[in-house]
Amino acid sequence: MRAVGHLNELTQAELASFVEEMNEPAYRGRQIFAALHKRRLRSFDEMTDLPKGFREKLNERAVASTLTIESRYLSEDGTRRYLMKTHDNLPVETVFIPEERRDTICFSSQSGCPLQCSFCLTAKLGLLRTLTAGEMVEQITIALNDAYGTGMKLPRGTNLVAMGAGEPFLAFEPLMKALRIMADPSGLHIVPNRVTVSTAGIVPRIRELATLEDRPHLAISLAAPTDELRNELMPINKKWPLGELLAACKEFERSLKPGERFTFEYVMLDGVNDADVHARQLANLLNRHALRAKVNLIPHNPADPLPYRPSPWERVESFKQILESKGVRAFVRRPRGRDIYAACGQLAARRTANPAEPVLHQLT
Ligand code: SAH
Repeated sequence: MRAVGHLNELTQAELASFVEEMNEPAYRGRQIFAALHKRRLRSFDEMTDLPKGFREKLNERAVASTLTIESRYLSEDGTRRYLMKTHDNLPVETVFIPEERRDTICFSSQSGCPLQCSFCLTAKLGLLRTLTAGEMVEQITIALNDAYGTGMKLPRGTNLVAMGAGEPFLAFEPLMKALRIMADPSGLHIVPNRVTVSTAGIVPRIRELATLEDRPHLAISLAAPTDELRNELMPINKKWPLGELLAACKEFERSLKPGERFTFEYVMLDGVNDADVHARQLANLLNRHALRAKVNLIPHNPADPLPYRPSPWERVESFKQILESKGVRAFVRRPRGRDIYAACGQLAARRTANPAEPVLHQLT
């Protein structure tokens, strides 16, 4: 057992048992839960509704928060990127994306990532470790507090995407726990229906997710329409090739609610996977499995050591048109926060701002 309890990774019920072990009434657990997740406080000292003696006891054996903010960057489009550190000094990145009708927070499920997708910068780090449920929840509270002030009421709904660093389906248990904690109406109250989990294609977990009652939405990173090309870009394809992946998706489809679709993400790499023939192959692949899906086309976000360039806009447009002419819904994703390396596949890029790059607006 850990000497120090990380309280933000506990559900309300677990917090109640935790305080009972300290010979305190269960309602103190509920109080702490609300303080952490509804009031978004990050230290026991701020929880002035708790008796002072109890706060002292808590400080001896537990912590209210574990991540520290190393730096924040503000993009010209309002996107914010946070570089945080875990208690054991590992990097965690989170991106806050304000939109007219909602805010979206893109959080990380792992520090680094074990998958070796050739177009993604996070891959260069390798896996440092999987994050705990508390570390996932804390990324959300930190971003919301920074945007609106500690505990302040939120002007818009919050959507979450598990699309930061890491492979969420290799962090399945802590991720599902984090989602349970965040869904609690006494806390953040962000329900799974507002959450999208993106996977590179961990097939058994796709099947497992389909069986869960209150589950988040699913996105799948495809990047290629054939096994040959996908093996090259996303080596995880050698373990679970497209046939198996789409079969699992077909099974998952039965769990879709009316009107719900799942999303395929397709990063567009100039001269690699963006030809007309790829678009036709992709449409045929999806049509063959008759999937209720849509495709998000993401122009590649460049980052120094990656050997790719983004597809030109005309290419993206004609790719999209081919998909649509074959009955596949397709959307082009406008990159957000590229100037601060906050866009897809750019996380882990720079721990510190390079002064030679004036586009980085470092806030702290
Ligand atoms: N491991 C999960 C979660 C990461 S999501 C997954 O693979 O789905 C990150 C998304 O950004 C994925 O869809 C990925 O294909 C895409 N991506 C990665 N690197 C990118 C880059 N450099 N430019 C644009 N999109 C990228």
